[in-house]
Amino acid sequence: MGFKIIEIKVSTGYSDAELKQRIAKELRMAEFTWQIESKSLDARKKSHIHWLLRIGVHSSALRGKDPEPKGTLDIPYKKRDQRVVITGSGPAGFFAALVLQKAGFDTILLERGTEVERRALGIAQFEKTGQFNPLANYSFGEGGAGTFSDGKLTSRSKHISRERDFFISSYIDAGAPAEIRYMAYPHVGSDNLRGVVKRLREQYRALGGEIRFETTLTNLEIEKGRVKEAVAGEERIQADYFIVAPGHSAYETYRMLIGRGVPFRTKNFAIGTRAEHRQELINKAQWGIERLPGVKAAEYRLTSDGDGKHTVYSFCMCPGGMVVPAATYRDINIVNGMSNYRRNGRFANAGCVAAIHPDQLAGRQVTPLEALDWLEELERSFFAFSNDYQAPFCTISDFIAGTEPREIPETSYPLGLKPAPLWNMLPPVVTNALRAGLKDFDQRLKGYGKGILLGLESKTSAPIQVLRENNGVCSGFENLFVAGEGSGYAGGIVSSAADGIKIAMQIVEKEQ
Ligand SMILES: Cc1cc2nc3c(=O)[nH]c(=O)nc-3n(C[C@H](O)[C@H](O)[C@H](O)COP(=O)(O)OP(=O)(O)OC[C@H]3O[C@@H](n4cnc5c(N)ncnc54)[C@H](O)[C@@H]3O)c2cc1C
Repeated sequence: MGFKIIEIKVSTGYSDAELKQRIAKELRMAEFTWQIESKSLDARKKSHIHWLLRIGVHSSALRGKDPEPKGTLDIPYKKRDQRVVITGSGPAGFFAALVLQKAGFDTILLERGTEVERRALGIAQFEKTGQFNPLANYSFGEGGAGTFSDGKLTSRSKHISRERDFFISSYIDAGAPAEIRYMAYPHVGSDNLRGVVKRLREQYRALGGEIRFETTLTNLEIEKGRVKEAVAGEERIQADYFIVAPGHSAYETYRMLIGRGVPFRTKNFAIGTRAEHRQELINKAQWGIERLPGVKAAEYRLTSDGDGKHTVYSFCMCPGGMVVPAATYRDINIVNGMSNYRRNGRFANAGCVAAIHPDQLAGRQVTPLEALDWLEELERSFFAFSNDYQAPFCTISDFIAGTEPREIPETSYPLGLKPAPLWNMLPPVVTNALRAGLKDFDQRLKGYGKGILLGLESKTSAPIQVLRENNGVCSGFENLFVAGEGSGYAGGIVSSAADGIKIAMQIVEKEQ
């Protein structure tokens, strides 16, 4: 059987039958099989928006050879005596645990929150009543921040192709749409993620992995750079290796690690607001029309030099999605965004943030602990403003002009809006950069200035980063690893999972 890759442009509303005809015409043959290798939307010319497809065709009438198979993650299994305790069941911790369990280690996964089924109920209750559940919220609980995320699986990280491939295959095996293998901007959707997380848990348990929910890592017993025990309340768990993958929201876990001598440094991150628009407005700006057959909803990615000192960019765009109350603790008020697979909501939202270093915010050099204190205080000040989980908001034009909003617009945010001088609530350096960036965005995306801003968006990435050796171990430690977004080396679902997988593979290699 011969093989050939061809590239085809098709209209957005194409059907499989049409595509087959196009391939047949292109290759002048009738008998063949085919699969999509990659698919991206070309919307550069509004009058000619189309899908660009790379298609692999197999046929006895073709001469070419199949492409060399891509390198895959090789997880060597043998029965091993070592135990690994992993903290955090987000993408980093879960995938580290899965790989180690597949390699024959005895793994225990500690998760402070509840399993996904109860977590979904806790979040639904919060959005209905405003009663926050510390064990079941947008950040904490089974699957971590990844579970009720938007489920966009794009990543700009380099050198993670094997890990990415393993992650994508695992997701598809657990029920994610197969198209995530070839879409240029793969998206699972918040509604699909719950099932994926549940099925992954079942697979992990079937391999012998153990998950303990509602179990918070509170301390580490350390002797001469070697962690001996993980302490979770009354429980003490001994192990050979310890991986801590707490995400970037668990302040007390960060503080415990720093207190136990785990070295961190401060790093660039970004804060700001979340912008919300009518989805039709974004569709019209991007496509020239309000609906395009075969495409769910228009996206945008915007970057501006801001005020020349701090880059301003859109972040985690959720077409047809919802702005969600992403509080991590009872008296913190922050927002984030998500969308379901069909992306058919009436609103579009995306972070609108300014890149900044903690030293620039504080106006002096700060320690990692001070950076965390500063950020937590800002998050608390947004809660204090509303005195609940109503999102402080203003329109984009209010923000630029510094005028209080006069009326409350429609929004996807479930817990209501509270008019607020966001420009005064954010640090002046951030406000100045955002004002310049917002003006720029309005020039580049027609109608952008008609949107509203909700605050606070503070979870784009961690403001601190652990110090690591080349093999991933924490500097000064023999058997302790900090993985995922909380380590400061990853941001987003795929790169966090890849970081967890890489760390797991370092342990596998060491124990060959
Ligand atoms: C609403 C929302 C939408 C998002 N959308 C996207 C998106 O579309 N695409 C994307 O790539 N990224 C998205 N993200 C970000 C993404 O979810 C994170 O980057 C990713 O989940 C980080 O993975 P992680 O495993 O490092 O940490 P997390 O997913 O944060 O997981 C950490 C886990 O550790 C647990 N934990 C913390 N401390 C302890 C402790 N002491 N003891 C026990 N357990 C502990 C927490 O409960 C949590 O379950 C979104 C995030 C949110 C909140």
